[in-house]
Amino acid sequence: METRDVVRQAIEAGVQLVFFLYCDNGGIIRGKGTHVARLEQRLRTGIGLTVAMQAMSDMDQLQAVPGMGPVGEVRLVPDPQTFTVLPYAPKRAVMLADLLTLQGEPWGACPRSFLKRMVQKAAAQGLRLRAAFEPEWTLARRRDDGTVVPIDDSLCFSSVGMTAAQEVVDAIVAALEAQGLEVEQYYPELGHGQQELSIRFADALRAADNQILYRETVRNVAWQHGYLASFAPKPFADQAGNGCHLHFSLWDLAGERNLFYDPEDPLQLSQTAYHFLAGVLAHLPALVALTCPSVNSYRRLGPRTWSSAFVCYGPDNREAALRIASPFWGQEMASLNLELKPADATANPYLALGGLLAAGLDGLARGLQPAEGQRVDVDPATLPPEELARRGIRRLPASLPEAIAALESDATLLEALGPALATSYLAVRRGDAALFASHDEAFELRHHFYKY
Ligand code: GLU
Ligand code: MG
Repeated sequence: METRDVVRQAIEAGVQLVFFLYCDNGGIIRGKGTHVARLEQRLRTGIGLTVAMQAMSDMDQLQAVPGMGPVGEVRLVPDPQTFTVLPYAPKRAVMLADLLTLQGEPWGACPRSFLKRMVQKAAAQGLRLRAAFEPEWTLARRRDDGTVVPIDDSLCFSSVGMTAAQEVVDAIVAALEAQGLEVEQYYPELGHGQQELSIRFADALRAADNQILYRETVRNVAWQHGYLASFAPKPFADQAGNGCHLHFSLWDLAGERNLFYDPEDPLQLSQTAYHFLAGVLAHLPALVALTCPSVNSYRRLGPRTWSSAFVCYGPDNREAALRIASPFWGQEMASLNLELKPADATANPYLALGGLLAAGLDGLARGLQPAEGQRVDVDPATLPPEELARRGIRRLPASLPEAIAALESDATLLEALGPALATSYLAVRRGDAALFASHDEAFELRHHFYKY
């Protein structure tokens, strides 16, 4: 879409404010809005933003990052392809923005530009990543005393839960569809008030953009129905966690052939798939610092909770970090994909997908193969520690500081992120880890409930 088409569409739709949104190092969606009368100009010039925002923690505490203080400015420049009138707020539209320097170049600390760079790197090798985020979230109600409770105590996939959430879920489905997001499946999940509503895969950048639109939609429509929707990985300590599993496959540039698919292989995986998978496993302890990036993420990631806790893979194994999802009958090539379980919706989707690509491409470049023992066909938590060690099955980081340490020592991921993004990202995450370490569980749950 051209700039002038965006302006025309905005005027025809009766939009007043257009918000240029980005997702920051903390996974928080932020942005600034322009009145439609200034839209044409601001599509070209962007909107100014202090460089300090990429040093801001999830608690809005500015971290000490060289070059990211009170002096300096970048521009929020929106991608015209992402213009979306909001069905739940029809006088408003959003656009997903890149952070550009004053010279108009991608800023080193821009997450969306990082993903674009990784997509280009893959494209130079004839590869195209397609992905879908599979979000789980919790519908809750705020009581008069300020406490928050799930909307129901229904059982996993139970029709009682479908009834409890019917009106709001139907409204969310309609709103997603009006924005061009294709809804795949819906069901009430295991936890009280927990919902899972998945949307169709798309090219990597679009999939990440979709995740931003999705989070906005769920939170807003729930709010309009008098509910809070929480994407926190563990909104209630005694309930199932909210994952946001990442499904992905590599295609040729034309998007015609799924390069992960090989019908001759016992698991229907190609050599390309094994190399990519091995790259992801090799970098996984560091990668989770990007895909499970909040303090609350590690309350979810644990053995025997179906969220994965060990570096291993397996066909349809829901305790393995990488599940080979069995394809649909008659659509094997189209539907074969890998599912990364240690991922949640507090992640910045651009960093999560960019990091995944960097890890997988490294596996391809080095021709890595998963260790034979890393294929697991049981719950890995049932294997004795000696056997896990012998088979090369490591425990995933059990806390944010452990994940940060793994990322700090992963040269491949740090190089892919580049110095500005890596430095600011690590500073923000260290800041959050330190702050929450000095508070209790209730503080952690409260401050993760409704930010993402
Ligand atoms: N809620 C689980 C998680 O935290 C996932 C359950 C499932 O869909 O297998 O990842
Ligand atoms: Mg689920």
